Amino acid sequence: MKPYFDIPHSSSKTRARRGVLSCAHGVVQTPAFVTVGTKATVKALTPEDLTLTGTQYIFVNTYHMVLAPGENVVQQAGGVHTFSHMNVPIITDSGGFQVFSLGKHLGVEEQDWNEKQKPTGVKISEDGVQFRSHIDGKKVLFTPEFSISAQKKIGADFIVAFDEDILNKASEKYTKESTERTHLWAQRSLAEFERKDDAPSHRQRMYGVIHGGRFEDLRKWSAQTIAEMPFECLALGGVSVGIENKELREEVSWVSDVLHTDQRPRHLLGISTLPDVIFGVKKGFDTFDCVLPTRYARMGRLYDADYHSLDRFEKPQRDVDFTLDIMAKKYKSDMGPISEYCECHVCKTYSRAYLHHLFSQRELLGYRLATIHNLYWIEQFFGNIRKSIEGGKM
Ligand SMILES: [Zn+2]
Repeated sequence: MKPYFDIPHSSSKTRARRGVLSCAHGVVQTPAFVTVGTKATVKALTPEDLTLTGTQYIFVNTYHMVLAPGENVVQQAGGVHTFSHMNVPIITDSGGFQVFSLGKHLGVEEQDWNEKQKPTGVKISEDGVQFRSHIDGKKVLFTPEFSISAQKKIGADFIVAFDEDILNKASEKYTKESTERTHLWAQRSLAEFERKDDAPSHRQRMYGVIHGGRFEDLRKWSAQTIAEMPFECLALGGVSVGIENKELREEVSWVSDVLHTDQRPRHLLGISTLPDVIFGVKKGFDTFDCVLPTRYARMGRLYDADYHSLDRFEKPQRDVDFTLDIMAKKYKSDMGPISEYCECHVCKTYSRAYLHHLFSQRELLGYRLATIHNLYWIEQFFGNIRKSIEGGKM
């Protein structure tokens, strides 16, 4: 039988791997970008538009789907693929990230709270997390059992064990307690996953999530503990939550040191820059989700950098440096394509002047065309990473 994750090429220079991740709704060539489709839609695009972008893999948020329309509605529709018509591999997260982003104070000493860290009614216990819905104020309790049962009903190809996201400012004591809790929740997530109730007709596979915050011994202990559990895929969590580039890279390196010979697919949850993607690939991570390409598109920030030369992306820098601002006056009568480096449908068909016009008039088509361009560009960027590994250059 074909393995669900095959690694045809491994780099001899770095820990980079060129893999193929398979599931019921298709295959993902890795390293791969995971496009964010929070509420079972990639904002501004139809599923048909996605075929113009080369999107391979979509990330849907369990928290948002539970609050609206509700996991039972998605199940009645036959699962998220049928409901949304997005017929590509889909992953749902555990809901932990959104739940904990409502409780930004958790684990941080009161004198270190900033404006955003006032208690918001999020209550955490061994059982799970209670919070109020941002939609109607109703109390909701997320437990490992609830998260996994909801993810079975939503029916993505890949799901994620319930975890607690920790702020990097959290104390060592809190980080240790929280990581222990995540490990217990990982076991409960596996037990719930084993139960046949509510499972979709296709095979799902589950990611275990590694935490441990800012502390090397805790990160390595968490990597070992989660890797020993019977998860089919592994994810690194909590690295991008308000932390500096240097810290992110240290945490990725520590976990890579523990996992680098493990053959399971590895996901880096919530990466923030393209230089960090290249760093993560070299440390053996296979898939990366990020809201930036789609968010930038809706802000009129369009990628305009040569994705063929990856050296350009090595040095730590912000992604905004790889984009142009289509609202700038100089594009008002620029009849050239959005980016001379891009061969997407939008660059082949429309001018900077037209996109400038759509954005300055807040025409809805602007968001759609900009999103197609940014997603195509990022897929080409990842395509070049794959070629680079195959060619022995990375
Ligand atoms: Zn383009």
